[in-house]
Amino acid sequence: MSGSVRPIIIRGGLVVRPADGTVALADILVADGLIAEVGAPGLPAPEEAEVLDATDRLIMPGLVNAHTHSHLAIAKGLSRSWTLELHLHNGPWTGGGQRFEDRYLLAQASAAEMLLKGCTACYDLVLELPAPTPEGMFATAAGFKDAGMRAVIAPMLADRTFWQAIPGLRDALPPELRPTVDGITLASRDVALIACERMLAEWPHDRSIVRPALAPTIPLHCSDAFWTGCRDLAERHGAGIHAHLAESKIQAIAGEARYRKSLTAHLDSLGILGHNFTAAHGIWLDGADLDILARRGACVAHNPSSNFRLGSGIANVPAMRAAGVTVGIGSDACSCSDHQNLFETMRLACYLSRTASFDPDDWLTPREVFEMATRGSARALGMQDIAGDIRPGLAADLVFLDLTSVNFTPLNDPLYQLVFAEEGRSVDRVMVGGRTVVEKGKLITIDYDALRRKLNDRAREIQAANAPRKAALAALEPFVKHYCVGLAQGSRQIEIAEDISDA
Ligand SMILES: [Zn+2]
Repeated sequence: MSGSVRPIIIRGGLVVRPADGTVALADILVADGLIAEVGAPGLPAPEEAEVLDATDRLIMPGLVNAHTHSHLAIAKGLSRSWTLELHLHNGPWTGGGQRFEDRYLLAQASAAEMLLKGCTACYDLVLELPAPTPEGMFATAAGFKDAGMRAVIAPMLADRTFWQAIPGLRDALPPELRPTVDGITLASRDVALIACERMLAEWPHDRSIVRPALAPTIPLHCSDAFWTGCRDLAERHGAGIHAHLAESKIQAIAGEARYRKSLTAHLDSLGILGHNFTAAHGIWLDGADLDILARRGACVAHNPSSNFRLGSGIANVPAMRAAGVTVGIGSDACSCSDHQNLFETMRLACYLSRTASFDPDDWLTPREVFEMATRGSARALGMQDIAGDIRPGLAADLVFLDLTSVNFTPLNDPLYQLVFAEEGRSVDRVMVGGRTVVEKGKLITIDYDALRRKLNDRAREIQAANAPRKAALAALEPFVKHYCVGLAQGSRQIEIAEDISDA
């Protein structure tokens, strides 16, 4: 993804940098897709350089989405008043029934939304059933690459279904309805791990643009043997690991019951946690868990939009940061936040921190949240050497916001307005690796009208095919809800025999 052969000199823009929160007029020289220099207006440039006038533009590093799921770009607006558990229960129809061709299409759909909203890189956790395929992940990566966006692509892995993962849940369902969930099966962990090994070994794309990782999706959904298999694969291939960690109170309770320790302590005992580990959500973590994550150099992807939508709780981001954990910002999936908008998500992260304390000194500032959505997220992706800031040596992943838009009029404090007023409408130009992929607010790498038609067609086809499964799961939903709400409220306890095996 090198930029044009000619260097580019961007003149006259107001440059906002996450490292120190400064906003200043500066010129940026881009060469070979990288930021070569940032300097005061009038910065000398090679004679052959293409001049890009950035007058009335706020230039920021591309936002980085630390947690999303491209396969659910098809599922906007489907989720009802669902907790995480009801969202997972309904997953087989909201996100199921897809085909290989959907991988590229939905990666393009995700990339289209994110690029238009100023995001230039993401961590994408992709579900293929009954097992991930290398080809599906390669196609997902191609969808992002062709859109001109960076991505880390991680197949979602599990050897227990949702109904098997929550102790006691399956047996709490009426016997006559159990065949619905018993009929939903996953490939064996050996099949999944062999597929992942081949994906990692045969990855066909430039890893500075799109790279593979692994996503054992939720601790309780993977046996210990599956976890350690993923750990060994990631180690051998230098890949990242990304998992949903203590996203709901029910997961935290079920983890304590199954492992006799917290989910975090359990993963740590398996040797999973390290610099290459990103924990999504992390709402139900205590101080000891945060200390473990900090000690291991792990990151957290904070997803406030999804946490609100699912009523999952409030992640204590100030405590995470105080403990020394790097925190990035994610949108999560369109099935549980309905959008992949990092501007919206930054604002929610700021607001949410205000509900946890009466002392404004404890609240997250716009500068802190902007830093989390750029440098923090880039670290979560393992792309800190490429993305997340504006400084020489990093890739020229830049977003130009139109300062004449209503969100910046009048212009009082660009950084505050960027976080508190902007929602994406001011995005004028997006550059990834020095290549312009959005110009005048329009995608130039994707035929959006053709994409839109295909997405609407596929959404209708998939919904029609999934209708019987939707009805069968709807019949079970009251029982799942009753069991899980009881667990969360403390009116029901999980009982597990001492000799439970987790192999
Ligand atoms: Zn997620």
